[in-house]
Amino acid sequence: MDQIAARSSMLLVSEPSLGEDEKAALVDVIDGNWITMGGRVQAFEQAFAQQHGAAGAVAVNNCTAGLHLALYALGVGPGDEVLVPSLTFVATANSVIYAGAKPVFVDVESLDMPVMSLADAAAKCTPRTKAVMVMHYAGHVRNPGAWREFAESRGLHLIEDSAHAVGAARGEVFGDAAVFSFFGNKNMTTAEGGMVIARDPEVLSRVRQARSHGMTSTTVQRLSGQVVTYDVPMLGFNYRMDEMCAAIGLVQLAKLGSWNSKRKALAGEYRALIRQLCPRVEMPFADSLVSSHHILPVLLPRSADRQAVVNKLRERGVQTSFHYPPVHRLSYYRDRSFGTRLPHTEEFAARELTLPLHPKMEMWQVEFVLGSLAEALAH
Ligand SMILES: *Cc1c(COP(=O)(O)O)cnc(C)c1O
Repeated sequence: MDQIAARSSMLLVSEPSLGEDEKAALVDVIDGNWITMGGRVQAFEQAFAQQHGAAGAVAVNNCTAGLHLALYALGVGPGDEVLVPSLTFVATANSVIYAGAKPVFVDVESLDMPVMSLADAAAKCTPRTKAVMVMHYAGHVRNPGAWREFAESRGLHLIEDSAHAVGAARGEVFGDAAVFSFFGNKNMTTAEGGMVIARDPEVLSRVRQARSHGMTSTTVQRLSGQVVTYDVPMLGFNYRMDEMCAAIGLVQLAKLGSWNSKRKALAGEYRALIRQLCPRVEMPFADSLVSSHHILPVLLPRSADRQAVVNKLRERGVQTSFHYPPVHRLSYYRDRSFGTRLPHTEEFAARELTLPLHPKMEMWQVEFVLGSLAEALAH
């Protein structure tokens, strides 16, 4: 009980915004008595595609499954290497292993620009490199033209792990495929869920087929008498989204624009106040233009005791977290990527602290967080 009370009064790093609209949408699904792969999933796919400048999209049960499907539909498999950042959530690299390929970890550009480095990616290309997977850390969409040029000149597939960049105002996706997450802590949520966009309609249709056991027809088509049976010409998976998730997704998608504007305003307030209140703390992405402001990472001074800062902030009711423990240092991967050293990633990850950022926050809370951080650092 005490723990729950403590949590409810904490200012959290991220928090979903759910309410009466989502409840009503769920009631509609139950009343309609059709609970998976129906009209709401289709409507959600269309609305999401339209908002992200794409012709179509495929809804899946989570982003990790979507990344696996994207690699699978693009033909990435055993014997192939895929360039991935290490400063990411472990799912980025895991999806490569699900596809039977090998993740090759690439360093970030710099402490101020902690996204995958083009130069280090070029250095890690081998004749086995088949694809490159960029990740829009914190929601910042960087170097679209340069990554396309990088992939095209080497004949590589380009995949965007866009889990952080849902609703980033940036026009079309630049990857051959882009995959989004609707997990509970992302910019919009369906509880669990994800979406795949692909440039080539044939790739998207392979994603669609592989999502549902590789079957050539859907339940709706068979029920409506359009077809009577199905074939399975490929190995497929069950990575489907259900109607309840899609119903929540449709409601959330309509609010995404205003939530992302609020995130941008809060991030702007952090940037305006940080120099004044915490001059020794650095805020990366100084010149970033396109972002969904998914999280608010800062870099503590080299001399700071990060865990002590975390504890002090918790005492003041401010939750913080780390994004991320580098994937190449997690024991499963450490044992499989002998001696990989990524100096910028390692320094960034050791000094990084993620501060609260979500649309339910008030502007005055930014000053409170930074004031508390200044105090914690003074100890
Ligand atoms: C959240 C996240 C994922 C996984 O998303 P799920 O929908 O939970 O599978 C993958 N990559 C990154 C960078 C993420 O932040």
